[in-house]
Amino acid sequence: MLTFQQITSIVGGKVVQHVQQSPVAHLLTDSRKLSQPAGSVFFAIKGKFNDGHKYLQQLYSQGVRAFVVEQGEQRELSRLYPEANILQVENSLEALQELATWHRAQFHIPVIGITGSNGKTIVKEWLAQLLSPDELVVKSPRSYNSQLGVPLSVWQLEPNHTVGIFEAGISQPGEMEKLQHIIQPTMGIFTNVGSAHDEGFSSRQQKIEEKLKLFKNVELLFYCADYEDLHQAVQARQIHSFTWSRKEEADLSIKAVTTAGHRTIIVFSYHGEKQRLAVPFTDEASIENVLHCLAVLLYRNLSISEIQDRLDRLQPVAMRLEMKEAINGCYLIDDTYNNDLAGLAIALDLLVNQPQRGKHSVILSDLLESGLAEEKLYTKVAELVQARGVERLIAIGPTISKYRSLFKVPAEFYTATESFLSQFDAGSFRDEVILVKGARVFGFERIVHAFQQKVHGTVLEVNLDALVHNLNYYRSKLAPDTKLMVMVKAFAYGSGSFEVANLLQFHRVDYLTVAYADEGVLLREHGITLPIMVMNPSTDSFSKIKHYNLEPEIYSLELLEALLKSVVATSSYRIHLKLDTGMHRLGFLPEDFDALFSLLQQYPQVQVVSAFSHLAGADEALHNDYSQLQIANFKSMAAEVEARLGYQVTKHILNSAGIVRFPEHQMDMVRLGIGLYGVEATGVEQEALRPVSVLKTTVSQVKAIKKGQTVGYSRKGTADQDKKIATIAIGYADGYDRRFSNGVGHAIIHGRRCPVIGNVCMDMCMIDVTGLPVTAGDEAILFGPALTLVELAKSIGTIPYELLTNVSSRVKRVFYSE
Ligand SMILES: *Cc1c(COP(=O)(O)O)cnc(C)c1O
Repeated sequence: MLTFQQITSIVGGKVVQHVQQSPVAHLLTDSRKLSQPAGSVFFAIKGKFNDGHKYLQQLYSQGVRAFVVEQGEQRELSRLYPEANILQVENSLEALQELATWHRAQFHIPVIGITGSNGKTIVKEWLAQLLSPDELVVKSPRSYNSQLGVPLSVWQLEPNHTVGIFEAGISQPGEMEKLQHIIQPTMGIFTNVGSAHDEGFSSRQQKIEEKLKLFKNVELLFYCADYEDLHQAVQARQIHSFTWSRKEEADLSIKAVTTAGHRTIIVFSYHGEKQRLAVPFTDEASIENVLHCLAVLLYRNLSISEIQDRLDRLQPVAMRLEMKEAINGCYLIDDTYNNDLAGLAIALDLLVNQPQRGKHSVILSDLLESGLAEEKLYTKVAELVQARGVERLIAIGPTISKYRSLFKVPAEFYTATESFLSQFDAGSFRDEVILVKGARVFGFERIVHAFQQKVHGTVLEVNLDALVHNLNYYRSKLAPDTKLMVMVKAFAYGSGSFEVANLLQFHRVDYLTVAYADEGVLLREHGITLPIMVMNPSTDSFSKIKHYNLEPEIYSLELLEALLKSVVATSSYRIHLKLDTGMHRLGFLPEDFDALFSLLQQYPQVQVVSAFSHLAGADEALHNDYSQLQIANFKSMAAEVEARLGYQVTKHILNSAGIVRFPEHQMDMVRLGIGLYGVEATGVEQEALRPVSVLKTTVSQVKAIKKGQTVGYSRKGTADQDKKIATIAIGYADGYDRRFSNGVGHAIIHGRRCPVIGNVCMDMCMIDVTGLPVTAGDEAILFGPALTLVELAKSIGTIPYELLTNVSSRVKRVFYSE
């Protein structure tokens, strides 16, 4: 708890107004994450894509009474927020960092700072698990490791903690010094050096040097000496270190690493003694991560048997959060991340930010390893659940049940997952958004399973983080005032309309566009409040369009007349004019203007909010001259539109490819489509985007066929030798194009590309898996990062757009984030 006066003396700045005495405990940087208005101070931060100052009014009306701002005139601020304490600073983010730095300095406990290219989050989580038997650990939530995430992580430090573990991530020079300042690590772990964020640095060496700044004052740095450039840099800086190596003598020398079933045996020498330990993982990345942890445990003088004991209990860190449709109109948020307080708070924020209608429910297990006394812990949990407005709580576990009296929201308690499942009544859940959050030992995947609709095994997995990455990539190309319209037509290019729209709304794009009125209605029914343009309004859809507050594109006089018939005098209407500048699809030509504007003049209640046109060949450099011609045509036609209307309208012409190719013609808004979904249509900057979707299915049956036998309809697939084939559960009715027949298409099974054999059938197809240990139930990937849409489209002479939008609606969409 800090008073306003204390904050002022810590971060400096100018006191605009000091009227409140109540102290604050919560640092708020995102207006969407408000839960305790009275105890929060909001830092209005100007980011690359947003500006916190835009949300002052809203937060004030929600009860926030302390603000740290950069802008605003004293008189105006006092007039708008008469009851708030307001501090004005040069830079709000730096003020937040100052405050966190001060907070950190109040604690004199060991703090481990972790950086490196990969594995930071896993090492942090595992180390916290491994230390938890004798330490009360505070750690960064998820991967909060940025300039903003680190101060928020450090802010969690409380007097009862005995060890802090915080990760630090950077993408450009100059950043680590600030993070070092905030974390003040007393020990360090450098996980590894890879290529992540290489582009932000002039050389690998510079990146290492920059990262090492985190360890400026550490007593000890743990790292693997096998990264030679890292090793040299550490030696050169004379940082006191604890090394491990698989190649040479080190503090911890790894002698052998062998796999035994689901475990890996590690033989090593430490202090001249040969030892062995088994770890419950076999993949390379996990071994490296666990070796860092082992180094720390050995350094702490834990006995080998104690270490083995703790390693045996090590849980994989699932960082995936899935969202999926479930029975009876319910929607599941399946968060298998470690169930601790910080993780719970983040998951609850996500839950309350789901705009679709329906009760917000939570299924929650006991929380593990928080370090707080039980009663205090569950008091906090109860507060969190109540503050986020949870309407139904299902609490599972002996401890949470013991503290049932602390919970004020409607709640049911079960001592074990089994007892919940044995009484599970699907009918008692209807139209709810349900967060499922359980510590791994509770096996909540069984609960998720009980809620899932019966589906065949084909799914389209949509990576929401990749979508956001792509969104931000395009945003980074826009001038600060350029608005962003995102095309979510055709079920958001096949990716799932309302989930994608929901994410875009959360990330505050300016406009959405659908093809048909019904698509817009669906979005409204799921709580999407952004302005929505409808590209193909039918003449009989205008009352619906009006009712759902959608905005039609008007491209012809006939369409305008139909709209005007439905117009009433007392209401207002917003429309968008489509101009044909050379695509020759829809839109007005200059010769239509006389009739168009004389009609519009008679209806002042109809407002033209934007005028736009579409480029016919922005994706191909070959058509650059034509695109420039279209742009020039558009500029003169749009000027004419404004002159005739007598007011300004929003003007836009660029699609995804246009944003890349003609950044100087962004005008007032751009329309992002395929790029969001991970395909860079010009092909020039494909590397900068992340693939968004993976289409996968399962193997239904495996069989051996003899040389000369044939496979499938029309006997098109002939075995030129004895073969093993797998029948997989996807066909052209799922959107797996029949042109992939006979070796054109592939499925990735066991990491290998296996060709389609024979013709693709309606609901299945056959894959040649000769030589692979494939069995029924195995996964087969039809497209994804290792089998790209661009490549596949080319192989059958189409474009990625068609492949994406063809994925049939019977294929279940699963949304996840990492
Ligand atoms: C679909 C569409 C877009 C988006 O195009 P992409 O190539 O997917 O970026 C933009 N404008 C209009 C009018 C569209 O129909």
